[in-house]
Amino acid sequence: MSAIIIDGRKTREAHTGELIAKVKALPCIPKLAIIQVGDRSDSTSYIRAKKLFAAKIGVEVVHELFAETITQTEILKHIEMLNDDESIHGIIVQLPLPGHIDRTKVIDTIAPGKDVDALTTTSIGSWTKGKGIMPATARGVRELLRFYGIEILGKKVTVVGRSDLVGRPIAVMCQNAGAHVTVCHSQTTDLISGTKDADILIVAVGKPGLITAKHVNGGQVVIDVGISRIGEERLVGDVDFESVSQIVKAISPVPGGVGAMTVLALFENLIDLCR
Ligand code: NAP
Repeated sequence: MSAIIIDGRKTREAHTGELIAKVKALPCIPKLAIIQVGDRSDSTSYIRAKKLFAAKIGVEVVHELFAETITQTEILKHIEMLNDDESIHGIIVQLPLPGHIDRTKVIDTIAPGKDVDALTTTSIGSWTKGKGIMPATARGVRELLRFYGIEILGKKVTVVGRSDLVGRPIAVMCQNAGAHVTVCHSQTTDLISGTKDADILIVAVGKPGLITAKHVNGGQVVIDVGISRIGEERLVGDVDFESVSQIVKAISPVPGGVGAMTVLALFENLIDLCR
């Protein structure tokens, strides 16, 4: 039997009207600054998706592109200027940054009240305790599960991946929502028993084909967060969709799954910061 497809684009579409109404109800037009250092094509295409969605919901985006050779001091000064600019409500530094720049130092310079990605040390301290906004991917996964009526409370959730940006916030979000959470990573010796035992399996690694039919069970919901580019055009997740979708109860595809929800959640975060 084929699985139910957990459709991120459809879910985002269903939430878009509500988001437009929330933007209209604000006393000012929300304005997001996106800082990009260097011209990586994947970063450029993620920023393009954010700008397109912003235009759709009536949010203003200022995209600032700096040469790869910019110094750390110059970036820090620029962020401080944006922190002081009252017309800017949210700041994103598009990751990854070039090797000569200290990511933590740059991120921690963003004023917590404008940290729309929820990545500063202050923001991490808040969302770990279930307060304030959480990183967009985790919020997007939560809303995707909600839309499909998939309960987290009391469920066994396995998250594969433990990065600060993606895996860890998703695991914390699930734990705060009352799940029994197992986290697998590159040092996990028996990935199959970690993944196969879960009611909900969430994979955020960046290795196409990591999860195959032998890693899943028939009653499972599988959320594929991974995005890898094959050649110029094709995007794939971490899960072998063809084989796994024949076994599990429900699965999110790549593209058209979590990615669409992450963009939605990012602007929900911005609106929350504006309020
Ligand atoms: P990352 O920083 O490279 O982290 C990858 C994680 O996977 C690490 O925790 C690593 O373990 C773990 N890992 C590596 N090999 C493994 C293996 N063989 N078995 C189990 N775990 C393994 O990447 P990231 O920033 O978290 O991104 C992960 C994926 O999500 C990427 O494909 C990225 O493009 C995608 N992504 C998607 C969205 C979206 O909206 N859908 C948003 C952001 C990112 P260690 O900690 O032990 O090294």
